[in-house]
Amino acid sequence: MMNYSADDICKAARAIQPYLTELLNAPNAQRLERQLEGLLSKVSLEQGSHMKLSHLLSEHQSTRDWIRLYLEESYPAEDILKALRIYYPLPGVERSVESPRYVCPVEKCNQDWYRQSREAEIPVCPVHGLKLMIDS
Ligand SMILES: [Zn+2]
Repeated sequence: MMNYSADDICKAARAIQPYLTELLNAPNAQRLERQLEGLLSKVSLEQGSHMKLSHLLSEHQSTRDWIRLYLEESYPAEDILKALRIYYPLPGVERSVESPRYVCPVEKCNQDWYRQSREAEIPVCPVHGLKLMIDS
């Protein structure tokens, strides 16, 4: 549990919002986004929701570290992801959905392959022996 003033934790909770999808996996990021929105409303804050904010933001190591760098070490919000990635991989960095698909040039051949990195060599179709081509 973090020990920051109500003002600080509110400021940090607002600042961290655009970065949640980079700090947490998608279901956790969506859940936290919704919860923060509710807790940051004027009414909630007047009822002392900062304790809950502080608790939520300390549930995960990545958000806890983000808040610490922001509040204790005065990092600019836009530089914190870069700093955290030095220590551990963040879930939001995976972009496997954007891997381009390669297919066999022979019509009706359903061999395909997804290029996960730029260094990966493009394979040949095991049926036709032809180099796979990017699927447009
Ligand atoms: Zn083929």
